[in-house]
Amino acid sequence: MTPATPDKPASQPVSGPRSHRVSGRVGGIAESATLKVDAKAKALKAEGRPVIGFGAGEPDFATPDYVVEAAAEACRDPKNHRYTPAGGLPELKKAIAEKTARDSGYDVEPAQVLVTNGGKQAIYAAFAAMLDPGDEVIVPAPYWTTYPEAIRLAGGVPVEVLADETQDYKVTPEQLEAARTERTKVLLFVSPSNPTGSVYTADEIREIGQWVEDHQLWVLTDEIYEHLVYDGVDTGSMPVLCPYLADNCVVVNGVAKTYAMTGWRVGWMIGPQDLVKAATNLQSHATSNVANVSQRAALAAVSGDLAAVEEMKAAFDRRRRTIVSMLGEIDGVVCPTPQGAFYAYPQVKGLLGKEYGGRVIDTSADLAEYILEQVEVAVVPGEAFGSPGYLRLSYALGDDDLVEGITRLQKLFS
Ligand code: PMP
Repeated sequence: MTPATPDKPASQPVSGPRSHRVSGRVGGIAESATLKVDAKAKALKAEGRPVIGFGAGEPDFATPDYVVEAAAEACRDPKNHRYTPAGGLPELKKAIAEKTARDSGYDVEPAQVLVTNGGKQAIYAAFAAMLDPGDEVIVPAPYWTTYPEAIRLAGGVPVEVLADETQDYKVTPEQLEAARTERTKVLLFVSPSNPTGSVYTADEIREIGQWVEDHQLWVLTDEIYEHLVYDGVDTGSMPVLCPYLADNCVVVNGVAKTYAMTGWRVGWMIGPQDLVKAATNLQSHATSNVANVSQRAALAAVSGDLAAVEEMKAAFDRRRRTIVSMLGEIDGVVCPTPQGAFYAYPQVKGLLGKEYGGRVIDTSADLAEYILEQVEVAVVPGEAFGSPGYLRLSYALGDDDLVEGITRLQKLFS
């Protein structure tokens, strides 16, 4: 220890309470890789560089006018300048229950709904409410980058089960069974999937639901892309296809993707009342409630029709076909046709282990960096989703940008 001088306090012993400055639990969380790529692309763009971003998972459309109007009106009414109940505005919970019955056929009570700051917070709240330390959650990979972090933060242990492009990135009950232990408590399920765009068929969902039931597990099913299903795939909501699961099922959803409302931060979880009550208590201390005006906007969104999402879906579908066919023209890239959401997830192993501009690129992480440096196209490497050797490209960007961006890739790898 150095002694104190008039302008410098004595140095601290190395092993005091300050030596572990950040808790192990939070210090171990990785930065969201998708947000990182997006931030880098936006920063380059702000410098005036012609970056084309396939990184962000957000629609490029504006929020529909009637939603914006409802929010503007809500702003002017002082009653909306106050807290709402922690679980959400009663009329919004009721509208979410009605919307759920309308869109997926799942009948729930408003008391089964917790309105959260985006679907992301619903996922964290659900895991916090379900998991005790050491409980295992089976996470199909490639997985959306937030799931394992939310599980770990809640004290749980994510157990990955990898499904590659040869099985359309969809896990089977046999694979799930091979990963199950006596600590397994929850299956994480998402369809349509981020990052792969895969959609499970109704029959596949029934089989997986039956496996969940056979082993008395919970299932968290993320339905945030429910309206973005192409090619008329016969699919559905897990607790509707497997009604016996209702008491052990959490549905996560939100307005972000359906109504182009990523910035408004409104999502929800639906579950059995005991779990939702526990998660609501957690929220009452963590954040109190979602911004009142945002809840009013979400109320207008879910009470309205689905015209806006139909319009976006038509555009996404068009871009999906373009991106899949253009990526397919690049030697070394294998791109299965995604049937949902707005992501393409090509396997790019054929591009790795080669020399580019005097250096050998061995990983998809390095490849993504090289692509951004060389042709100013932002993509997210598979490492972010637990599956190196792949790239994720969001096709929620304008048609011209999409064609220009993939043309740059075609030239780079020709
Ligand atoms: N689930 C999935 C699968 C997602 O892709 C996202 C957004 N990227 C979310 C949930 C969360 O969305 P938000 O928090 O914006 O509602």
